[in-house]
Amino acid sequence: MPRKKLIAGNWKMNCLSAEGTALAKAVAKQTKETKFDCDFLICPPFTLLGLVKKCLRGSKVALGAQDVHFAEKGAHTGDISPLMLKDLGCTYVIIGHSERRVDHHETNELINKKAVAAHAAGLNTVICIGETEAQRNAGETIKVCQKQISGSVPADADAKNTVIAYEPIWAIGTGKTPTSADVQEVHAAIRAALNKKLGKTIANKMRILYGGSVKPSNAAELLSLPDVDGALIGGASLKADDFIAIAKNATK
Ligand code: PEP
Repeated sequence: MPRKKLIAGNWKMNCLSAEGTALAKAVAKQTKETKFDCDFLICPPFTLLGLVKKCLRGSKVALGAQDVHFAEKGAHTGDISPLMLKDLGCTYVIIGHSERRVDHHETNELINKKAVAAHAAGLNTVICIGETEAQRNAGETIKVCQKQISGSVPADADAKNTVIAYEPIWAIGTGKTPTSADVQEVHAAIRAALNKKLGKTIANKMRILYGGSVKPSNAAELLSLPDVDGALIGGASLKADDFIAIAKNATK
């Protein structure tokens, strides 16, 4: 079943106004100049969402945030609600990135709760999963991913409101990537876990992105794998030319 690929940029905690504006404008411009066969998403830090939204006007690049609270509003100092993101023009939110699982002790249960709240507000979620290096060396990758799918993905997930991002933690920002055969094996196992949880129709349509040191030089190989439906890109999304060069490899 053909799934339109999603090329998503996670800017993490990078860029002040001037840099973020220039980057978003450059991405918007380049996506308008060339015909692409994929969807685009960029996820700047909270502070830049309003500004970046303006820069993306007239382009087909979607706007997303990097995290969200599960509550609608109230006494949660420093947090941002799903409706606040919606109000700023976001259509997506990344949930459960490994940096949040580690730095903020986010559990599968919390991520599931956040996803339910985001969906209720009309946001699409990019739910991140992936194993540590120790888990990979112990041969536990698939078991870890199955557990994360089972716990983090809510029952209301469907192919429209949910995208899965498989990101081996040891590959994030390190320049290391699994072999193509390993990536395909894990993505196929993730699709099987989605099948078990949500049924075949949804599992076959749901996009599973690969993330972890994706760059222009490895994008063609990774994006050609049958169960890889796009990429979640950190470092290389901070350079418009690299982000666009990766997207040029994203065909159905
Ligand atoms: C990420 O942060 O989601 C990521 C994959 O980062 P990088 O592309 O820099 O490895």
